[in-house]
Parts: sequence; C-alpha cells; structure tokens
Amino acid sequence: MSVYLVLLGAPGAGKGTQAKHLMEALSLPHISSGNIFRENLNKQTELGKLAQTFISDGQLVPDDVTIAMIRERLEQDDCTMGAMLDGFPRTPTQAEALDVILADLGGELDAVLYIKVTQEILVRRLSGRWMCRAAGHVFHDEFNPPLVPGVCDYDGSELYQRDDDRAETVAERIRVYINQTAPLIDYYRQRGLLVEVDGDQSIEAVADTLMAALPEGAVQ
Ligand code: ADP
Ligand code: ADP
Repeated sequence: MSVYLVLLGAPGAGKGTQAKHLMEALSLPHISSGNIFRENLNKQTELGKLAQTFISDGQLVPDDVTIAMIRERLEQDDCTMGAMLDGFPRTPTQAEALDVILADLGGELDAVLYIKVTQEILVRRLSGRWMCRAAGHVFHDEFNPPLVPGVCDYDGSELYQRDDDRAETVAERIRVYINQTAPLIDYYRQRGLLVEVDGDQSIEAVADTLMAALPEGAVQ
C-alpha cells in the first residue's frame, strides 16, 4: 500500500528540515517543488526560465506549470510506494489537482502535516538559512550550523544563501502564503487530514512531535 504525505507550512517553517528526518524514518522519496524549480533554474531548462521571475519576485509559479511538473515527478518509479510532498500544494487548485493525480496512481492522500510557526520566528529562520548547491540540504547559521562553515555536512558541496531569502522578498512570500496557501489549512482540517504540530520548538522536538503524530499506517 502506498503512503502519500504533504508537509504544509509558511516559508521557513521547517518543511525541508523535517522532510529530511521523516525520509529516513519512513523511506519515502522527498519531493520538494522548490528544489525541482531550483534544479531547473540552474540547468536553465525551459521550466527553469519560466519559473525564474516568479521565484525571484516571491510569487507563485502558475498552477498549470506546477501541477504538470508534480504529476510527472509522482509518476516516476521511485514513488510507487508513495511520497512526501514539501511545498506542494500551495493553492486550492493545486490541492484539487493532487487528488486527481493520486487517484490516477491508485492512491490517496493519507495526511497533511502542518508545521505552525509564529511569523517573527519565520523571518529569523529565513535570514539565517544556508542551502547546499548539490541537493538542497538546509542549515542555519545560528540554529543548525554546519560542521564546517560554508560546506554541506552531507555531501561536501558549497552552501549559499537563496536570493529569495532577502528581507523584501521574504515579506512578499509570507503575504502570498497567507493569501493563497493558508486557506488549505481549513480545507484539509475539514477533510480530517490535518495533523497540526507546534513548529516553534527546536528541530529535534518538532521531529519527535511529528513522528508521534503520524497516522497509523504511515510508518512502515
Ligand atoms: P521551509 O522548507 O519550510 O522553508 P526550512 O526547513 O528550509 O523551511 O527551514 C528554514 C530555516 O530554519 C533553515 O535555516 C533551518 O535550518 C532552520 N530551521 C528549521 N526548523 C527549525 C527549528 N525547529 N528551529 C530552528 N531553526 C529551524
Ligand atoms: P520555502 O522552502 O521557503 O517555502 P520553496 O523552496 O518551497 O520555499 O519555494 C521557493 C519558490 O518556488 C516559491 O516562493 C515559489 O516561487 C516557487 N514554488 C515552490 N513551490 C511552488 C508551488 N507549489 N506553487 C507555485 N510556486 C511554487
């Protein structure tokens, strides 16, 4: 049986960080829409060129493009046992499309893990975030420093600060989140799929809370 999970939360809530913990525990592939866009941007593919202006302005990439990209990813062989989606869906249209994609794959959404974080904390997390070039591993100069400054602990690649983590763009991304993505919290709560955890705690405490809150059947 397959297991499909969604990580929901504002920019900087800790979705990517927790995905790494959960991946090890659940052996599900981690599918981050942001990471796929950034890979395409680095390679300057058509998709990357299209996404570039939206990302650097802190806006969402249009739904049709994003939905097609996620469908293609979920259809790959490594997702037959399920997947952990991080950063998708981000709009009601994307949420509806996800149901259709999963039904086509013979599955359904098992749970939406909502990491709830206070707004001031988000800004501090994003301003100190460092990401690795090779695989998008995430660090923080204060809260989760790498062993060697500027170098990824996992693959040795260079760490960089994302262009869209600048203060002006962060403010816009949080606005976009509140207007376009936050309505999904109630949408999934009403469907009985929402698992809400307090994301203001330490990385380890959030990971423990998430593991304890996972629905039965998710841990294989
Ligand atoms: P998201 O994927 O939701 O945007 P990230 O996982 O990239 O969030 O985390 C944003 C930043 O905050 C990173 O620098 C990360 O190291 C740091 N971080 C993540 N979770 C916590 C936490 N619980 N406490 C402190 N810092 C955190
Ligand atoms: P964060 O980890 O800070 O939440 P992401 O890495 O998930 O940010 O996303 C970075 C950017 O990529 C977003 O600001 C947006 O421009 C684009 N993006 C990522 N996921 C989606 C999505 N599901 N729909 C539209 N745009 C997206």
